[in-house]
Amino acid sequence: MAAGGPGGNKMKNSGAVFNIQKYSVHDGPGIRTVVFLKGCPLRCRWCSNPESQKPQPQLAYNPNKCLTLDHCVRCLEVCTAGSIHKGKDGRVEIDRETCTECLLCTKACPPLALNPYGETMTVDQVIQKVEEDSAFYSRSGGGMTLGGGEPLHQPEFAIDLLKEARRRRINTAMETCGFCRWEDLQTAAGYLHTLLYDIKSMDAEKHKAFTGVSNELILDNLNRVREALPKLPILIRTPIVPGFNDSVEDVRTILQHIQGLPNVRFEALDYHRMGKPKYEYLGLEFPMGDQMLEAERIKLIRALIRSEFPHLCSPSSAEKEESRKSAAGRQT
Ligand code: SF4
Ligand code: SF4
Repeated sequence: MAAGGPGGNKMKNSGAVFNIQKYSVHDGPGIRTVVFLKGCPLRCRWCSNPESQKPQPQLAYNPNKCLTLDHCVRCLEVCTAGSIHKGKDGRVEIDRETCTECLLCTKACPPLALNPYGETMTVDQVIQKVEEDSAFYSRSGGGMTLGGGEPLHQPEFAIDLLKEARRRRINTAMETCGFCRWEDLQTAAGYLHTLLYDIKSMDAEKHKAFTGVSNELILDNLNRVREALPKLPILIRTPIVPGFNDSVEDVRTILQHIQGLPNVRFEALDYHRMGKPKYEYLGLEFPMGDQMLEAERIKLIRALIRSEFPHLCSPSSAEKEESRKSAAGRQT
């Protein structure tokens, strides 16, 4: 067998991580630590993690934290590309065309108004962070979840993280958009206890218009992983997005597609705009603008799942929150 696993993947002991979020109850069973890897082949218009999309660390600027160039010129002094300019109210304006994202200014900025999104971490560094909460995992049935971005955009790193977690008896889950090489998904799935799989729409054209890619590979990979590992629990997740897939009919076609698959559950995720400030910090426009999800629509969709597809229902967020609290209570 090649070094690195059954798929012959090479060892990749480090990769780009943009967040490690603790005490999550929304990303697999029990209380989990979610490791967010950078890089994604999709460009979903509603993406709440725009900092996940590019594979390398990126420069973010929060004007609210800036001391202004009237009182501080630290970033100006270190930027050899000449990309820092004085803007409104003395705040910094970054010329993103000339900025090389060397990130030197992030090290010079006292209040961290300039901040890197993402850093390179080794497998050991990540797993050490994850292991800090082992006590919560054993009490709640939780563990580590890989998210992103798309974890399999860095396939060797993602697979090595999963392998190392399994070696240390940590429960493993991975969120994927499914747009990845089958060989990578197959290898990663072999180290998983739970797979969280996004199906956004059954309409190939609409899928392409809103995410940048068609859904064919995604649906094909779902069938293949279901066939290859029939016992692996799969939670299909659909973010309900206004103007894209927020009708009962949109969701029903997804549920009809997956209802015959064994060992599969389904969860509808509410659209939110919490990622909007991050677009501003990256100098990007939020593609969804001010669009909101009507509360009535999500109610109808939840009613549809309960009435027509009860066998696909997953535990509600409220139930998960309750289990998190009770595990945390036992811990203290
Ligand atoms: S990341 Fe580098 S090039 Fe870009 S503004 Fe900062 S110092 Fe200048
Ligand atoms: S170093 Fe930071 S606080 Fe100072 S001007 Fe630049 S962005 Fe603002």
